[in-house]
Amino acid sequence: MSYLNLDSIKARTYDAIVVGTGISGGWAAKELTGKGLKTLVLERGRDVKHNVDYPTTNMQPWEFEHLGQPTLAERQDNPIASKHYIFKEDAMHFVMKDKVHPYVQDKPFDWMRGYQVGGRSLLWARQVQRWSDYDFEGPARDGFAIDWPIRYADLAPWYSYVEKFAGISGNRDGIPQLPDGEFLPALEMTCIEKHFSEQMAKHYKGTRPVIVGRCAHITEPQQIHYDQGRAKCQHRVMCQRGCPFGGYFSTNSSTLPWAMKTGKMTLRPHSVVHSIIYDEKKQRAVGVRVVDANTKEMMEYYAKVIFLNASAINSNLVLLNSTSRRFPNGLGNDSGVLGKFIGFHNYRGRVSADYDGFHDSTTDGRRPTGGYVPRFRNVFKQETDFLRGYATSFNTSKKSNSTAGMVGEELKQSLFAPDRGGWGIGAQMMGETLTKESNFIRLDPILKDDWGIPLLRMSVDFDDNDRKMVQDFYEQFTEMFTKAGFTNIKTADTGRVPGSENHEMGGIRMGHDPKASMLNKWNQLHTVPNVFVTDGGCMVSTATQNPSLTYMAITARAADYAVAEMRKGNL
Ligand SMILES: Cc1cc2nc3c(=O)[nH]c(=O)nc-3n(C[C@H](O)[C@H](O)[C@H](O)COP(=O)(O)OP(=O)(O)OC[C@H]3O[C@@H](n4cnc5c(N)ncnc54)[C@H](O)[C@@H]3O)c2cc1C
Repeated sequence: MSYLNLDSIKARTYDAIVVGTGISGGWAAKELTGKGLKTLVLERGRDVKHNVDYPTTNMQPWEFEHLGQPTLAERQDNPIASKHYIFKEDAMHFVMKDKVHPYVQDKPFDWMRGYQVGGRSLLWARQVQRWSDYDFEGPARDGFAIDWPIRYADLAPWYSYVEKFAGISGNRDGIPQLPDGEFLPALEMTCIEKHFSEQMAKHYKGTRPVIVGRCAHITEPQQIHYDQGRAKCQHRVMCQRGCPFGGYFSTNSSTLPWAMKTGKMTLRPHSVVHSIIYDEKKQRAVGVRVVDANTKEMMEYYAKVIFLNASAINSNLVLLNSTSRRFPNGLGNDSGVLGKFIGFHNYRGRVSADYDGFHDSTTDGRRPTGGYVPRFRNVFKQETDFLRGYATSFNTSKKSNSTAGMVGEELKQSLFAPDRGGWGIGAQMMGETLTKESNFIRLDPILKDDWGIPLLRMSVDFDDNDRKMVQDFYEQFTEMFTKAGFTNIKTADTGRVPGSENHEMGGIRMGHDPKASMLNKWNQLHTVPNVFVTDGGCMVSTATQNPSLTYMAITARAADYAVAEMRKGNL
């Protein structure tokens, strides 16, 4: 007589399981359900329904109890999260609090997390750029990390695919190192941005283009956006609260409701994935172990295919914690590279300046993006004593004529004053870091979290390459600002530590060689091919672009492959 409850096992068996509902998990859910797979989507945080669960979305500044700022107690309780600009009264309910899920910093690492349905797709700054072959070929050309098993041509159609659905605004700038995409109309540049762009074109003969930031905002809705229930961006610039118009791309407004409409998705919030279950006889993963976040009950769910999209660091954690006799060091970790070669972006450098001109011009309304200078260092040939390079985002603002504190006639005169003062500009570097074995994360052998899962220990740091790059950024932008006629140029080290830029990557990298990588070119674990990892964990190198668009494209591509392989009976 068997005591196995077959009905219960059947009820917990799906075609596919997706772990995590952030930007990449949302895409996995959409693609797998869209292709007919009965899919269980597991999310450790609470549910956040589009519109229903955006409590601050329509609040006015004066309605916030603390003028929008975190209280002293909130800052003291959250020394890591409160360093971040996003940790304000309007959006802190979407930011993971430090104490809830602690980790050990062997070296400083400011890890920004969003544990809820939608993950950090609610909070992100929506800047999106495609990679080019100058990025994919970087490690092989410059001799660090390993060669990427894919090139731009592998991803280009998938970039197009995700861009059309998400809604990306931008200009077709024709820059070789920043391929154009399927753009909705671009947002307009300010007069000072136009001036800077023109001056750079003149002085650098087109080698240092200055463009308006490409961003995941609907500027001219297409039918596919209306079908998602999304509308044109209203330029409210309160995106981090959740947008009632669906004007920017988030999992909550876009991919997850789309997946839900198929009738194939089961969404289970409050489900902390503990590990992946490996069946030694079948030599494949058969499901996942889940701890209910509230009751702490452990349960198992089963599927033919598992997509791990818990975000780069958390996907590393899940794999490191998935031990078995066959894989004592973590699932698929024959190579020993799991948790190593962590990458991030170097946001240390800032250069600011003033411009005493365009006194009679100002900006009207708000714009949900800034200016962008694609990487120009070491793109076509090696030209500096450091490897790789940096892209730069920048913001401009009217310097003077602040109306703060003014009332009545004084305020009126000031608003109508023809001379509205000069301009300020602030540039932020976004440097590529070299993924190295010495930048790693591992599990603490003793400490555990509230769900019985080992705590992570972070050991990630800058190196000399990063320091040289910061110096170069200071020098180049000082020169560029000078040529543009800017004055009062100041350089600053932001003191930001790894992780604070929100672009953590690697640890589960792709590669041709199973001895040096975890995933093949389709994002399958080399030795457990029914497990796919398509978040930032899969990245071999970091490039300088904001990464999330690439995660979307990689996820859609891998999901397409997974379903085709299932249909062929290979998975
Ligand atoms: C303020 C801010 C600004 C940003 N700006 C940009 C930008 O301009 N451009 C850009 O490209 N990127 C930006 N990013 C980064 C971007 O948000 C991430 O790259 C992106 O969200 C990563 O997607 P993901 O699916 O890998 O992870 P996430 O979006 O972080 O989602 C992961 C999900 O998995 C869940 N999860 C984790 N562990 C488990 C587990 N064990 N079991 C079950 N569920 C789990 C989490 O709760 C979460 O919901 C920004 C991020 C922040 C915070």
